[in-house]
Amino acid sequence: MEKIYDIAVIGAGPGGIGTAVEAAKAGLSVVLFEKTDKHSATLREYYKDGKRVDKDYKGQKVDLKGHIPLVDGTKETTLELFDKVLEGIEFHTSTEVEKVAKVGDVFVISTGKGETKARACAIAIGKMGKPNKPSYSLPISVRARTHFNAQSCTKGENLLIVGGGNSAVEYAIALCEDNKVTLNYRKAVFTRINETNQQELDKCVSAGKITLKAGIDITELGDDGALPQAHFTDGSTGTFDRVVYAIGGIAPVDFLHKCGITLDDNKVPVTDANHQSNIAGLYIAGDLLYKNGGSIGFSLNHGFEIVQDVRKTLGK
Ligand SMILES: Cc1cc2nc3c(=O)[nH]c(=O)nc-3n(C[C@H](O)[C@H](O)[C@H](O)COP(=O)(O)OP(=O)(O)OC[C@H]3O[C@@H](n4cnc5c(N)ncnc54)[C@H](O)[C@@H]3O)c2cc1C
Repeated sequence: MEKIYDIAVIGAGPGGIGTAVEAAKAGLSVVLFEKTDKHSATLREYYKDGKRVDKDYKGQKVDLKGHIPLVDGTKETTLELFDKVLEGIEFHTSTEVEKVAKVGDVFVISTGKGETKARACAIAIGKMGKPNKPSYSLPISVRARTHFNAQSCTKGENLLIVGGGNSAVEYAIALCEDNKVTLNYRKAVFTRINETNQQELDKCVSAGKITLKAGIDITELGDDGALPQAHFTDGSTGTFDRVVYAIGGIAPVDFLHKCGITLDDNKVPVTDANHQSNIAGLYIAGDLLYKNGGSIGFSLNHGFEIVQDVRKTLGK
């Protein structure tokens, strides 16, 4: 029978680590996903080596509630502490979560590697994520027509969607109803998409709603005076109203939108006292809960509080 975890946790920074560790301590079945190849990408990338790490960061006093004994230390001692507490936890690195959807009572967590199911889910992806950019430069003249999500697309446009994951394919499928859509993927076969998307894509391609340019890469993006013009490795060129890149690294706000989470005017998720979003069973931890600020200690406490609520809901 297919496994359904008690809780899936997205993002292995302090918020996600706190949630996963507290869940495991409480005897819940838990799986943790991280898009980079190690936990704590923000600490590794944005803290200088040897940086002092204060538990009461910027004077924000925190009384730790859970099992992770954070103390004043350095970048390195904090990373070591997290290495240690993660031992024994099911942890998938280099696995970017693309979307979380609630289907009936169960959350379906989609990654480029497949789908995972869980009764509850915690999103702790922080605020530092950025969409991946192509290796070639994007001319300033057409910057307003190149995008990293589909929010600017309207109707009746000629669109080029670039990418081979579920996000790119879902954009193409959704947009082809009202637009002329070309989907470009550098590989010949879409190996990273789920079955439903593959079937829908096949239907749209057969019906002539999506023009597929697979196994072909873009060498350069120029402009034809006003519109973006893509030059492909097969020697062809194409002029489009907009180019949408969906090549990984979804920005946090776009990710939350995609999951159906309601945000307030400051683009902060609307949550209850237990950090539960507008979707029952879907929780938020860490810096995402603040317009500004946040700290490692606060993020760890979110994990503890979320797990107490999940235990109540699941009766465990
Ligand atoms: C320079 C600097 C110094 C700081 N110093 C301190 C300090 O001394 N003390 C302190 O308490 N706080 C400090 N902070 C704040 C602290 O780092 C943050 O509050 C904390 O990291 C927030 O944790 P988080 O889990 O919300 O997010 P993050 O730490 O940003 O972690 C998010 C994780 O999610 C992963 N991720 C993102 N998207 C996906 C996805 N789609 N799928 C899977 N994984 C994903 C990321 O790769 C990352 O590993 C500092 C912050 C900065 C920038």
